[in-house]
Amino acid sequence: MDSIVFVTKSNNNFYKLELARTLLHFVEYDFTYFWEQCIDLGKSCRKLGGYSSKQFRVVKNLITKCHPYYEAQINSDFENIVLDCLIEYICHSENIGLEELWARCISPKNAYEKAIFVRISEYKTGRAINQWANIMRIQEYARAKLDYIFEGDIVPRNMYVTRKGYFDLSFSVMAKELGFPSSELPAAKRYNSALMPNSAFMVSKVSKLILKKINPVIDEIKDPVYNPPISRDAIRDQISLDAFSYLRGMARPDGMELEAAEETFANLDGEYFLPDSFKAIIDLEFDKMLENNIILQKCAKCGKYFFYDMNYKGRLCNRVSSSGKTCREMYDETKPIEEEPITTDIETRCQILYTALSNKVGEEFKENEFKEWAQYLENMRENVKTEAATVEDLEAFLEYSERMCVEVKARPAVKVIKSDPMQAPPPPVKKRETSKPEPQRFRFPTLEELERLDNNRRR
Ligand SMILES: [Zn+2]
Repeated sequence: MDSIVFVTKSNNNFYKLELARTLLHFVEYDFTYFWEQCIDLGKSCRKLGGYSSKQFRVVKNLITKCHPYYEAQINSDFENIVLDCLIEYICHSENIGLEELWARCISPKNAYEKAIFVRISEYKTGRAINQWANIMRIQEYARAKLDYIFEGDIVPRNMYVTRKGYFDLSFSVMAKELGFPSSELPAAKRYNSALMPNSAFMVSKVSKLILKKINPVIDEIKDPVYNPPISRDAIRDQISLDAFSYLRGMARPDGMELEAAEETFANLDGEYFLPDSFKAIIDLEFDKMLENNIILQKCAKCGKYFFYDMNYKGRLCNRVSSSGKTCREMYDETKPIEEEPITTDIETRCQILYTALSNKVGEEFKENEFKEWAQYLENMRENVKTEAATVEDLEAFLEYSERMCVEVKARPAVKVIKSDPMQAPPPPVKKRETSKPEPQRFRFPTLEELERLDNNRRR
């Protein structure tokens, strides 16, 4: 089995989830274009004061393929994801809290502000969460779990199962300690095709046959009363057996009638899952992957995961990259694989800085300044990888950026960036075509030099 089928309460469709492929596609999914389109849409809404639900729908549909769960819930949970993204962006770029944005839109001047107000009200009353923020967190969660279980050398299958168990149990213990009720934590239920919440509609052909047959009984039943219980678990058996009591004595239909249903149930044989949240389906995929002995391995070159194959003992992937070749084709496996020059620690520093600085975009730190900085960082990393710059150069740049990041926060009124040497970074470095690039070093100011510059400026 290399796939599972899931359903949701919000519609009557079946969704296929290809084990491991869906997960890898999701963790590598690039949401940048979607994010940019949201911002552009927000800007035009602000300018025109209007709000076109059609345009919002178009942008919402841009990421339909990020995960089948998104596709399944696009018109329910994710209905307002574009607005969520805009709310997050406004709060970050203007450095204000949700409460402030909400208060600002209390007397909305236009449909756009009204939409923002209504949406934040939904957060405040616990009827919704910011789904854009949620999808980012889920992606981070999936990446973390993937690394936790599969990063490193190949180990016996049991060890993967143990790592997964340890990871999930740590979560459960933490949630318990925090006092989060277990009934509200994510879960996926397993059904057969005839007992799903929407089975009566989803297996409609046979349901109609049955309905025809039991209609006389239904007609005789005097309005059944259903009182919503305090505890749903307590009365599950009771209401289901009440329903069943009306079917007491139901005779098995004759051969012809059952034959008519045979094909339907042959096609629907198997298990159907109903995840109640995004996390639930991510966890389910991990469970099913290991149940089906699907092991992933991280490529020593590109860092992407690939399917473990017991006939292959190397550490390189067989995934075709943008160059049209796989790492196995591009690199010599007989040579020991060099460690990536940029360690995980440095990568983490880059990511933390990126997030921290992107959150400071606003009055003092303009968006184009941020973009310039991000491009510079990207070039720098690329150069380290192609040995056109050293790790020390990158670290110096990070130290410098970290200082800058602190300063933006400490002295918000001063245009820190404007007076910094960052103002004139070297032009973006193009990727070289040849396999042996001419080493080219960039000269980055040392910390002492930066300090000296700062002091000179202050004098
Ligand atoms: Zn690779």
